[in-house]
Order: sequence, then structure tokens, then C-alpha cells
Amino acid sequence: MNVDRTSEQWWARLGGGLVGGLVRIGQGFSVTFRQIFRPDVTKQYPRTIPPLAPRAHVGRHLLNRHENGLEKCIGCELCAWACPADAIYVEGADNSEEHRVSAGERYAKVYQINYLRCIMCGLCVEACPTRALTLTNNYELAFESREDAIFEKWQLLDPPPPLGTAPGTEEGK
Ligand code: SF4
Ligand code: SF4
Repeated sequence: MNVDRTSEQWWARLGGGLVGGLVRIGQGFSVTFRQIFRPDVTKQYPRTIPPLAPRAHVGRHLLNRHENGLEKCIGCELCAWACPADAIYVEGADNSEEHRVSAGERYAKVYQINYLRCIMCGLCVEACPTRALTLTNNYELAFESREDAIFEKWQLLDPPPPLGTAPGTEEGK
């Protein structure tokens, strides 16, 4: 009598376990099944680059020049002090009549931005008193070494290439 009851309980437990397992498998597959009918959201980047807002400032910095070619940066280091990530290094030097680089008394002898640190917050741009520093819309920043991520002044004075032409893309080969 005892043996029969134990065997009944065992079969009941097995049946309950099987039903529970099947329900869970069904729930899992229902997620997959629902996904089949959802629209495809794969982005074809960099073949298709979604347009940015006309005044989007979300990418690499640019050091600007005056119309006469002199640099706007006066090496004051305010951008470096404003940077919360300590990503900017500036070393100023005096202009001379023989060697004039900027329109001010001083210029940036060394200007570096470390893009492994930069969080694109724009505080450096806000701090700059001469509008020498601006953010562009070129967010395509990829590096092969830590050294490559540190942009020097000559790189920052060069306007970035258009989006979609970064090395490694079809256009940027
Ligand atoms: S954008 Fe922000 S994090 Fe990047 S260099 Fe400027 S202040 Fe620093
Ligand atoms: S970019 Fe602007 S804030 Fe930074 S050192 Fe040059 S002038 Fe000063």
C-alpha cells in the first residue's frame, strides 16, 4: 500500500516537472518567435551613416585659426583646467616679433588631447576665451595604440575628414 502511494507521488512529480519544463521552453521560444515579426534594426554603419543635426558637436576637437592664419589659441591652459578628465595638456610660450604663432601675447607650444580620457563633455570649449577650441561632428575615432589616441597640435589644427572616410572603411582605404 505504501509502495503504491510512493509510486503515485513519483509519477505526479514527474508529470508536474515535465509540464513545467514544457511551459518554460514554450515561453523561451515565444520570445524568439515574437522577434521574427519585429522590424530589422541592424545599422549598416559605416555604409549608411545616419545624418547628424546641422549643429551637432559630438566629435573630435578642432583648433581654429584667424582669417590671417594666426592661431586663435593663446596657450592660457583654461581648457586644461576645465577638463574633468584631465585629457588636455598645454604648454604655453611667448610670441616674438620674429616668431609669431598666435594673435595674443602667448601661444600653445604644446597642445595635446588624450582621446582615451576625453568624454566629449565640451567643458573645454566653454572655458576657452578665444573660441580657439571647438568640437566637430567627426566622431570616428579609432586607434591602434595608446600613443595614437593622443592627438598633437598639428593634428588638431587640421579639420577632420568627412564622416565615413575613416581608415578601415571602403572609402577610407
Ligand atoms: S570634451 Fe570634456 S573631457 Fe574632452 S577634453 Fe574637453 S573638457 Fe576634457
Ligand atoms: S584652446 Fe582656448 S582655453 Fe585652451 S589654451 Fe588655447 S586659448 Fe586657452
